[in-house]
Amino acid sequence: MSELTAKDLGTELLQRIHALPKGKKIDECIQCGTCSASCPTSGAMKYGPREIIASLRAGMIDKVLKSNTVWLCTSCYSCVVRCPAGIPFTDIMYELKRLGVKYGIYPKKTTNAAMANSFSEVIDKHGRNSDTKLILKYYMRTSPLKILGQMGLASKLFFKGRMDVFTKTIKGLDGLQKMMAAAEENGEK
Ligand code: SF4
Ligand code: SF4
Repeated sequence: MSELTAKDLGTELLQRIHALPKGKKIDECIQCGTCSASCPTSGAMKYGPREIIASLRAGMIDKVLKSNTVWLCTSCYSCVVRCPAGIPFTDIMYELKRLGVKYGIYPKKTTNAAMANSFSEVIDKHGRNSDTKLILKYYMRTSPLKILGQMGLASKLFFKGRMDVFTKTIKGLDGLQKMMAAAEENGEK
């Protein structure tokens, strides 16, 4: 990280978390570890939920973003339901994902960020998802040659009428784009 320091990143993340409903509760974490013990995927995470809160406090958030941790969260909310301090940890994971995608800080091997960026581009352009465009964009970002391997499946889907070749754009796309631009300006996208 050159221009953007870990401290800047930590400060931005903390501001975003504090702005969430119940976000200020993060300051009341007692490091009990109930969240990590309740998390079905914490065994595969480099840093479990409890450690993420500790890392946030220690200003080590760039290390968390560069690990696989946030991309293994399944949004099951077990940590939120069981946290004695009422900390909205799942929402914190979403903020970490948003920040990682925004600044391009995520593990090199992960393809989740490519999927998130591709999805966001399709929605920005059409106001709705298109499976075909999403998959094409995703493969172009990750491994373009794999598109060839999907041609058989694509033609079967096409002949069964299950593949949208021409993406319909929603009515009122202008309004949606204005809303998304406003959300981006407020740091919500
Ligand atoms: S369960 Fe809540 S209070 Fe306990 S470590 Fe996790 S976030 Fe902190
Ligand atoms: S919401 Fe995410 S971090 Fe929380 S318990 Fe589920 S998988 Fe783990």
